[in-house]
Amino acid sequence: MIRLDTHAGESDMTGDKTHCERCRHVFGANEPSYACQFACTFCKVCATTALHLRCPNCQGVLEDTRLIDKNKQTEN
Ligand SMILES: [Zn+2]
Ligand SMILES: [Zn+2]
Repeated sequence: MIRLDTHAGESDMTGDKTHCERCRHVFGANEPSYACQFACTFCKVCATTALHLRCPNCQGVLEDTRLIDKNKQTEN
């Protein structure tokens, strides 16, 4: 993950990834979203149909963020 703590001023470039970077669609609470390893985030429609699960920014593979979150969690 890349953090730019000192990069204040520009809005909508960093911070919460709550919308698709391609079509600006805002994700709902239970809506699937897809992200690459650098946290470029896209909606399911863009990721699967337009981008073919390939990040246009870094050429990384887009994965379902809900599955990523599950993998990160350890069983309690
Ligand atoms: Zn989209
Ligand atoms: Zn990317």
